Amino acid sequence: MDLLSIVIPCLNEEKNIFSICKEISKVIKGNVELSNLNFELIFIDDGSDDKTLEIIKKLSKDCEEIKFISFSRNFGKEAAIYAGLKNSSGDFIILMDADLQDPPVLLPQMYSFIKSGLYDCVATRRTSRKGEPVIRSFFTESFYKIINVISKTKIVNGARDFRIMTRQMVNSILEVSEYNRFSKGIFSWVGFKTKWLEYENIERQQGQTNWSFWKLSIYALDGIISFSTAPLYLSTITGIIFSLLAVISMIIIIIRTLIFGDAVSGWSSTISVILLLGGIQLFSIGILGQYLSKTYLETKNRPIYICKETNIR
Ligand code: UDP
Ligand code: MG
Repeated sequence: MDLLSIVIPCLNEEKNIFSICKEISKVIKGNVELSNLNFELIFIDDGSDDKTLEIIKKLSKDCEEIKFISFSRNFGKEAAIYAGLKNSSGDFIILMDADLQDPPVLLPQMYSFIKSGLYDCVATRRTSRKGEPVIRSFFTESFYKIINVISKTKIVNGARDFRIMTRQMVNSILEVSEYNRFSKGIFSWVGFKTKWLEYENIERQQGQTNWSFWKLSIYALDGIISFSTAPLYLSTITGIIFSLLAVISMIIIIIRTLIFGDAVSGWSSTISVILLLGGIQLFSIGILGQYLSKTYLETKNRPIYICKETNIR
């Protein structure tokens, strides 16, 4: 009989833990194929500062299928995914969010596809971004376009982390033990055959998204480059701003000269050229710094996460 591991990263999800357990068990019980299998639910408490861990621990006392790993602080979703995969022992491993944005009703379909043996992974993608701010969708779309142009590793637009994978694929993912983890890229990088299921975006059940616009932008930059270090980002952004300022000032100078003539000839254009070149230089140094910082963090060889408490032996 197969053992299915369900890995769920949680950061401040006190309002969702109970409902996700209920939803998952409802789906399992309502399906003949799934109800005959063994399950383990692995919750990763990613340094929550609400009652998330307390609730998970309480649930795990009544139900031995519920396991948890609690981090010593917030290490980020990528680290939580890694910890979950590493501590799973299932033949098939499922990854899903705690906020019910990943519909458990897809589980039977995902399992039967992977069980057919034709695929190593059954993943999901959102076909819409309903309920998301327009500007966020715009930047996300642009990110996918850029990364797919400049990187050999293809990343599917709208791909979620919600997926089921074979043990073999998970072991390969775990072998990619880099510190700067960008799972969407790693899933694609390890190869294997993936079947894509599509669904309409579902809004988060309770609580707030942990991804601010800024956090998402950094994540996107990380994804592009790694495939952190804040000051280096700063030089990149300063470079962009100065380049933009230079372009604007050039336009203003041209218009002003056309209308009023030139008072001190050559001065303004010299300044704008200096600004433009300075901007481009800072921008380039910034990019260089990004790669250097990644290398720096990677060579330090720090652990991806630190576990404070767990019931997994
Ligand atoms: N999450 C996490 N650590 C973090 C941020 C998020 O473990 O630092 C978890 C979060 O609890 C949720 C999942 O990752 O289960 C997705 O997060 P969220 O819903 O905030 O992201 P979105 O759905 O908006 O992409
Ligand atoms: Mg969510």
